[in-house]
Amino acid sequence: MRTVVDLTRCQGYAQCVFLAPAVFELHGEEGLLYATAVPDDQEERVRQAAAACPVQAILLGEEVKSGAR
Ligand code: SF4
Repeated sequence: MRTVVDLTRCQGYAQCVFLAPAVFELHGEEGLLYATAVPDDQEERVRQAAAACPVQAILLGEEVKSGAR
């Protein structure tokens, strides 16, 4: 599964980092780093992170259209 975070929406609430630390990492105040290719064993965590993000900045697999990396 792939994931993309809309960094223009992300407010650095770090819910995703808390729920899926292997995929999301917060650097400094606004720098969210993440793995676009989600390992199979992290998919459920990433789904929870997407659901928990207060601003719905996390897009998952199906929603990530071609061209997104
Ligand atoms: S939970 Fe959402 S707003 Fe918070 S750091 Fe993650 S992507 Fe950004």
